[in-house]
Amino acid sequence: MNEISGALLAWYDRHARALPWRGISDPYRTWVSEIMLQQTRVDTVIPYYERFLSRFPTPADLAAAGEEEVLKLWQGLGYYSRARNLLLGVRQVMEEKGGVIPSDPKELEKITGIGAYTAGAIASIAYGVRVPAVDGNVIRVLSRLYGIRSDASAPDTRRRILSLADDLVPAERPGDHNQAVMDLGATVCVPGTPDCRACPLASFCNARSLGDAADLPFLPGAKPPKQQPFTVLLVLSGGRVLARKRTENMLNGLWCFPMLPGFLSETELKEKIPDELHPESVILKKEREARHVFTHRVWQMQIWTCRVPSDVPTPRGYQFLDPGQIRDVPWPAAMYAALDCLQACSMKA
Ligand code: SF4
Repeated sequence: MNEISGALLAWYDRHARALPWRGISDPYRTWVSEIMLQQTRVDTVIPYYERFLSRFPTPADLAAAGEEEVLKLWQGLGYYSRARNLLLGVRQVMEEKGGVIPSDPKELEKITGIGAYTAGAIASIAYGVRVPAVDGNVIRVLSRLYGIRSDASAPDTRRRILSLADDLVPAERPGDHNQAVMDLGATVCVPGTPDCRACPLASFCNARSLGDAADLPFLPGAKPPKQQPFTVLLVLSGGRVLARKRTENMLNGLWCFPMLPGFLSETELKEKIPDELHPESVILKKEREARHVFTHRVWQMQIWTCRVPSDVPTPRGYQFLDPGQIRDVPWPAAMYAALDCLQACSMKA
């Protein structure tokens, strides 16, 4: 075993976080946990993981579920394509592999929703295969450790980091090694200023000795998220509210209230409201503002209520939801402020 991995594993043995998906050799559980952990904090994932596994304890249970139920259990975790792809991937394993999740990383990568990182994590953690699992955390740690100062998003740099990551994985305990790098990236070698004094790799680290760890990985092309203003309409009609199930790639299968681009005035809103709602008879009120930050965009929202007569026809593509349906359908976190408004309105009504 190389010195770096030895130091990492010794640190991991003392500092590993006790997490519900650790200490088990179940590729399905590793798969679910790794998908949930992408772009999401460990503390956030734990209750979702436990609920999900208690409802779908085996791949067969998940494969038999409907998409809407899976999205509902995922509600609030974000990045919903992960849930849809997990469902498709598990169904694929049931149909093509007789329910057995492969151990070969190349076979794993053929499954929907499993990329190189997740394949490496499942193979190494659940099956003890000597293969790296390289995600953003690992790229950060290795860029600093080896002093990689070229554009970390460039294919050449990626290849170099992958090769260094591969060299580093020991034959014994490859899964623990990968989890140790992930833990180090999440708790010590964090974005911004890392806690080098607590780091087991400090004596090997190039960026620490040169003092530029906070600048690595080098990502010159990173763009600030795009700001997108919207007017969100809570169209209230006799105890029901208008919403639609999204068909766009983003937030596909989740429910949203009507959203009109831009911040609109009352007059502009009346002009843009669907004709079925009889714009001349609606009562509009601006309720509040909210924002939701996605990875590459920010939704800035002005939330309005719009009361319409209870006999108006339903505009095309939309549905009027009653309180039970509002509770049951999956909503993205971006709609939580509007849902809060809706609750406040129904309490006043
Ligand atoms: Fe990261 Fe500092 Fe450790 Fe280097 S010494 S790997 S920069 S925490």
